[in-house]
Formats: sequence, structure tokens, C-alpha cells
Amino acid sequence: MSARVEVDLEKFAANLRRIRETVAPASHMLVVKDDAYGHGLPALVSRAVAEHVEWFGAFDVSTALEVRVHGGEGPRVLAWTVYDDSDIDAAMDASLELGIGDSALLARVIARARARGLSARVHLKIDTGLHRNGFRVEEWTQAVAQARDAAAAGLLRIVGVWSHIAEASESEDDAARAAFLDAAAALPEAPVMRHLAASAAAFARPEFRFDLVRIGAYAYGIRPEGGPPDAELGIRPIATLFGTVVQIDGEQAVLDVGSLDGLDSRLAGRLEVGTPEGPRALLAVTATAARVAGWPGARVGDDVALFGGRAPSSATDAAELVGTIGEQLVLRISPRLPRRYC
Ligand SMILES: *Cc1c(COP(=O)(O)O)cnc(C)c1O
Repeated sequence: MSARVEVDLEKFAANLRRIRETVAPASHMLVVKDDAYGHGLPALVSRAVAEHVEWFGAFDVSTALEVRVHGGEGPRVLAWTVYDDSDIDAAMDASLELGIGDSALLARVIARARARGLSARVHLKIDTGLHRNGFRVEEWTQAVAQARDAAAAGLLRIVGVWSHIAEASESEDDAARAAFLDAAAALPEAPVMRHLAASAAAFARPEFRFDLVRIGAYAYGIRPEGGPPDAELGIRPIATLFGTVVQIDGEQAVLDVGSLDGLDSRLAGRLEVGTPEGPRALLAVTATAARVAGWPGARVGDDVALFGGRAPSSATDAAELVGTIGEQLVLRISPRLPRRYC
């Protein structure tokens, strides 16, 4: 074989079960932005549906439509980035839900619903301090009134109130939670679902779970920098980046994966990789190749696990060697490298 990303769908299913147990009775929205964090959206959405995941979080509408294609009509799918009116129309046609955090967009959604004689399902987003869109606190009362009027006219259904938090410091998160609760109090009625937490807060802080948690990283077995160890969390990395030996050069084995494939060249001299004879040093990374310290009996065609679940270092551990986060290391892997599922 040649360089590839292998994704273990059994470990993925186990992570999903672990998340479900941890956050219950809250529901798990599986976040699948960036091609399911580089793991390949189609296979992961299909498996997640088979594992009874009922909510997907999809960044933009085109990703949400992909979830519909691979996950069917059953799941609820939230997109929180809308580029133009055709996104709004597509969302209504495919029964997607839209995360709305500004009044111009809210007005456009209402206008499209009126023009089409349809009703849009929206989750209103309050900015609780991250300033990554969301209605500002001083805009909130007006936004809720605007949405309620449209709901009364049958143009909207307000199905959620949500926000996104930094998950970097407990005190900032606590302040964000208090602001969130104030905002949510304006919409106490069912079926308005409240959701605030992503991976880290959903696991560490039960009072952040509310009705729904939006988890990406932990589902893929990627933990945030400085987070608790995987064993403590009960999650495992599902992907492994493999290279194969294409040449033996003296005491070194040359692999068919380089920085153009997304292997961070700063890992050279820092990372131990998994060879058939155990861990060896990654010596160099060029644009198209990597060099690894040789091992007895090394042969062209041998597999070497660079990082991930079946390598000595997880993506998160490898990332920490070069001062980044596991998610970045995984997202950098080129989409041209094949994903294989086992
Ligand atoms: C990416 C994202 C998440 C998931 O975050 P993880 O830390 O990967 O679990 C949740 N909510 C929003 C709005 C996001 O953009």
C-alpha cells in the first residue's frame, strides 16, 4: 500500500458511546465540519447514524447537505454559517436548522420564508464573550422579539438558543454561562433547546451540558492541548497516518509522505514513529518524503505509523511537540491522501 490515513470505525463508535454515556441526559450533536475533521464525512456520518447519533453540526449549509446525503432524512442537522439566500432556501428545502446570530441574517431568513411560503427552523445565537458572531447582549431582546413575531406568522420555528465558549479558563466560561442563562430565560418554552458546550466543557463541567452538547474533537479521539489524558476521558484516537517505505538508504528508510501531504516538517527530530520493529526517530521531512531511522530487516513496502491511534504518539501528543493542537495536525493532512476505513 502507500501513504494513507486509516480510520478505525469501531473506535469511533466506542467514542460515540462514551460521549453519550458521559453527557446523558443531554444529547450529542456530532460536529462534522472540515470533512469530519479530515476523517472523511461520508463514512463517519453513515456510521454515526448507525450508532444512533441524532444531531449533526455542520458549519455551513453545503456541509449540512452532505450530511443529509449520507445520513438520510432522520437526523437533525444544524448549520451556523450562511453565505447567501440560496443557502437559506436549500436549508428550508432539506429541513436543515440554521444558527442565526445577527439581525440582518435573521431578516433575510424571514424574507425567504415569506417568499417561499415555508417555515425556517432557527437556533438563535447569543454572543457570550467570544465575539465570534452571535447577537450582542444589548441586541438580544430585539432579536427575540423579531423572531417571535415571525414565528407567530408561521415563518420561523425557534428551536434552539445557543452560544460558543472559549473553554480556555473556568472563570471566563462561568461568566459566559451566566450570560447564556440570562439570554435563554427570554425563551423558556419548549421546544427551544439550549446548547453551549463543545468537547472540553461537555466532559469536564456537567452544568454546561443543558439539552445538547456540540462535540467534534472527542468523537475523533482528539483532545485539546493540556486536556486530561485520553485514558481518563475514555476516548481513543480513531485515525492513524501511515507512510510506506519506498527506499532503503543506508541506515535510513525513506517514506512516501512529506510536508506536501500535510506532515508537519517540524516533527523531524522530535517524533518517534511506529515501525515493524518498534519506535524509531523521524529524522527528516521534505516536501514529498520523510526519513526514519532504520530497523533490522527494513524493506520497501513496510508500513510506518507516523502519528495517531496505532502510532507511538497520538495526534495530540505529536502536536504538543511542535506547539500546536492535535486538531491542526489532523486537519493539515492532505485530502489527496486516501482515507481507508477498518
Ligand atoms: C467546532 C465547533 C464545535 C466542536 O468543538 P470541539 O472542541 O471539536 O468539540 C462546537 N461548536 C461550534 C460552534 C464549533 O464551531
